[in-house]
Amino acid sequence: MAKPDPLGREAPLFPQPEGDPSPASPLPLQAMTNPSAATPAAPEPASAPRDPRSPSTPNGAANGETPWTIASANAAYNIDRWGEGYFSINEKGEVQVTPLQAGGAAIDLSGLVQAAKEEGLDFPLLVRFQDIVRHRVNSLNEAFAAAIGENKYQGQYCGVFPIKVNQLREVVEEIADAGRPWNYGIEAGSKPELVAALAIHDNPRALLVCNGYKDRSFIRLALLGVRLGKKVILVAEKLEEIAKIIEVGREMGVEPMIGIRVKLQTKSSGKWAESAGANAKFGLSTAEVVEAVEWLQAQGKTDCLKLVHYHIGSQIPNIRNIKKAAREATRFYAGLHKLGARPEYLDVGGGLGVDYDGSKTDFHSSTNYTMQEYANDIVWNVMDICDAEKVPHPHLASESGRAVVAHHAMMIAEVFGSIEKTKEQYDLSVREDDHKLVHELAYTAKHWRRNPRESFHDIQGIREEAQNRFELGVLDLRTKARIETFYWHIAEEIFEHYRSDFGKGYIPEELRNLENHLADQYLVNFSVFQSMPDHWALGQVFPIMPLHRLLERPIHAGSLADITCDSDGKVAKFTDLNDVRDTIPLHPVKPGEPYYMGFFMLGAYQDIMGDLHNLFGRVNEMHVFLDPDEECGYYVEETIKGNTIGEVLELTQYPGADLARRMKAQVDAAIKEDRVKPSEGIRLLNEYEATLQAQTYLKLEP
Ligand code: PLP
Repeated sequence: MAKPDPLGREAPLFPQPEGDPSPASPLPLQAMTNPSAATPAAPEPASAPRDPRSPSTPNGAANGETPWTIASANAAYNIDRWGEGYFSINEKGEVQVTPLQAGGAAIDLSGLVQAAKEEGLDFPLLVRFQDIVRHRVNSLNEAFAAAIGENKYQGQYCGVFPIKVNQLREVVEEIADAGRPWNYGIEAGSKPELVAALAIHDNPRALLVCNGYKDRSFIRLALLGVRLGKKVILVAEKLEEIAKIIEVGREMGVEPMIGIRVKLQTKSSGKWAESAGANAKFGLSTAEVVEAVEWLQAQGKTDCLKLVHYHIGSQIPNIRNIKKAAREATRFYAGLHKLGARPEYLDVGGGLGVDYDGSKTDFHSSTNYTMQEYANDIVWNVMDICDAEKVPHPHLASESGRAVVAHHAMMIAEVFGSIEKTKEQYDLSVREDDHKLVHELAYTAKHWRRNPRESFHDIQGIREEAQNRFELGVLDLRTKARIETFYWHIAEEIFEHYRSDFGKGYIPEELRNLENHLADQYLVNFSVFQSMPDHWALGQVFPIMPLHRLLERPIHAGSLADITCDSDGKVAKFTDLNDVRDTIPLHPVKPGEPYYMGFFMLGAYQDIMGDLHNLFGRVNEMHVFLDPDEECGYYVEETIKGNTIGEVLELTQYPGADLARRMKAQVDAAIKEDRVKPSEGIRLLNEYEATLQAQTYLKLEP
């Protein structure tokens, strides 16, 4: 589904100045064997093909092209839109980070790359900007405070961070610390999360919300928190949990605080829409809600019901669904009051989205609202219904995870090569005794401009015919190779012809697919499965771009391949203002010069869901803090080494010592049989053992 263009125009595949128009080639005196190339020209938009591989100067200025500037790079990668003020391009043509947005200090990523090298941290490297985490916590709380103030809303905002979105201790501690002045709490969805949350949560005025299915030990753990004076609310996901909570509370002599999750009819759109509706996995139906209240009343425990909770899915792209859900849930809240219960809190769950593509639309990778608009709409709609129903305004909790942590983490990975589909130079010479099909292609190569689209159909036909003949054994390998060379050369030229004409004409459907086929694949030292699992599993797109050379025209269009031995281990869908795109503009890899790619907004969900496919482990990490006292304006608070080969093997039941023992036995046998000298055997064994301590990713040579 394409999204409406936020700029009100059709976006080019990637922005580039048009080539000089050159006159079409004259018709040949004598038409050769290819009939269509000699057909008089159809009225196609004419402009000379632009050779994408002919940069005379890095920014193209001497080619007569518009020079490539920071504005061009912004247009190519949209960083000024999805960067949200945290990421931008500096005057050196490199990506910089401003964790406190405008007015705050900037961190050059090239300086960070250097710092990582000095620390001996290999790439891929995950960088966490802890100030961004703090900034997001403050922004969210400020947004609700502003909305509450403006509307004279009578409740307070008491948000919680859903720990499942990023459980890393340093991240959760930072959030708890930044959130202390706001009484910002934590949400846990499992026993291990609750064990961590109970220890980190140290503000008796902040909520600790427990979601997820619960057994008795989960409930006991939560009530232990209540005994310690914490505001722990156990949210019932199904009816039976309410009785269990009351029972365990009686056993422990603790009055539990109960929430109920209601199943709303309002659904979100996008990739997480199934969290709501009658078939949702969690929550009580309307009949069960009524039953729950009546049961609590019969037990004399109505006052235990403190909170109404709902969650209609993560990354809600459209503000309309947010408003609608808030209104529907407030009717439940008001209805409970009318039944005689007195819930004090309304918990609107997660779903506050982030703008991964910068389009500010209701596309799944974007949001058509801001954080402030989200807060305004929740506050106003809850208030509107409460006033109409004449019930008190509840305190408002949200469980915003993605919006708090997505921006703070990015990964830097190195390109180590490319698989180029097209060549800089094609051998287009033709000999008299060449195959007839080669002659036809050579002719089309000269004359396709007379009728580009028809010529494209012709070369497709020729290629198909060549393939059939090859399979029948009547076309030799060399001829097949020549035919393919011509085919790709002509296809590339025709595609460029249309692409450079973008804005005036259009790219015919059959040619649009060519972009994929012509795109280069850049090989990047990382694993999609470990570092971007949602891309692999759900097709979620993340902003990705080169971190440097941004004053240089990116002359290739490419997709990214990771180092797993899996054809799924690739990124061939990228953020765009219009829908998603299959490639991004990339620079040629220069021998001996590193080329770094940045993978942005990885701070939500990706860390913990990453898996060990091919046994590629966690990547190295660097935690960065702004500090005006430092010359570079920041310091590296902590580095965390990624998994070693030994560690990932241990996780799959290969203890290192056992592996080394088995290898030693094999080396001993080889020495005994005189296949290996003892000194060499020891060297081989040492090398094997040292590898167990090495990182799982490629060690790239300069
Ligand atoms: N609360 C609940 C119950 C959830 O299931 C989720 C995630 O899906 C969240 C909160 C966090 O949502 P988000 O990251 O969209 O804010």
